[in-house]
Amino acid sequence: MAGVEIGGLSTVYPNGVRAVDGLDLGVVDGELFALLGPSGCGKTTLLRTIAGLEQATDGKVLIGGRDVTREQPGSRGVAMVFQDYALFPHMTVAENIAYPLRVRRAPKARQREVAERTAAGLSLSGLLDRRPGQLSGGQQQRTALARAVAVEADVLLLDEPLSNLDARLRLEARTFLKRLQRELALTTVFVTHDQAEALALADRIAVMESGRIRQLGTPREVFQRP
Ligand code: ADP
Ligand code: ADP
Repeated sequence: MAGVEIGGLSTVYPNGVRAVDGLDLGVVDGELFALLGPSGCGKTTLLRTIAGLEQATDGKVLIGGRDVTREQPGSRGVAMVFQDYALFPHMTVAENIAYPLRVRRAPKARQREVAERTAAGLSLSGLLDRRPGQLSGGQQQRTALARAVAVEADVLLLDEPLSNLDARLRLEARTFLKRLQRELALTTVFVTHDQAEALALADRIAVMESGRIRQLGTPREVFQRP
C-alpha cells in the first residue's frame, strides 16, 4: 500500500522535448486514478517517469513516502503495463503471468497457483498454455495486466489498459480492477483518452495538457465544469 507524491517533476527527452513540465500531483493510497488528455500531452512519459523507466530531469517522485527519484525501476514497488504489452513471445500465458514470481524464485506450485487465480479473474483460464502469438490483442492485453498484478507491487501503472477490449471484456476488466482496489487496496494510475472509461473507473481524474495538470478532481467535478 502506497500513495504517489510528485513534486515539480520534469522529464526532458534528449531531443529537448519537455514531455513533463514542472508537474505536481498526489495520488492517495488505494486510489484508482485516471490520467486523461490529448495524444502527446505527456501521459505515457509521466507513467514511465514514475516507474523509473525515464529519468526525471527535475523534481521528485515519492512512493509510500519514500523518495524513489534516483532508484532503479525494480526497487520502486511499482508494476507497469505497457501499451504494446511487452509479453515474452517464447513463454506461455501461464509463464508470462508467473514471470515476476519466477524472478523472485517462488516455488513452481505457487507460480502456477498465482497464474491460475489471476487468469481466472480475467477470463484467461482456457489460454494458460498458449503463447502470445496465438492470442488476440485483447487476450494479450489481459495477459499483460495479469502479469503486472502478479508482481504484487504497491502501485500499478497502466497505459491504456482496456483499449483493445470489446464491450464485454472491458466491463470484466473494469470489475477486475475495482476488485483489486477493494481487496488489495492497490493504488492504480491509468492512462486513457476515453472519458467514459475514466468516468466508470476513476476515483479522481487529472486532465493533462502540455506536460502539466490542467484540471484535477472527481469525475463529477471534472466533467461538470465548463
Ligand atoms: P502515445 O500513444 O502515447 O501517444 P506514441 O504513438 O506517440 O504514443 O509513441 C509511441 C512510442 O514512440 C512511445 O514509445 C514513445 O516513447 C515513442 N515516441 C513518441 N514520440 C517520439 C519522438 N518524438 N521521438 C522518439 N520517440 C518517440
Ligand atoms: P501521451 O502519452 O500523452 O501521448 P507522450 O508521453 O507519449 O504523450 O509524449 C509526450 C511528448 O513527448 C510528445 O511530444 C512526444 O512526441 C514526446 N516523446 C515521447 N517519447 C519520446 C522519446 N522517446 N523521445 C523524444 N520525444 C518523445
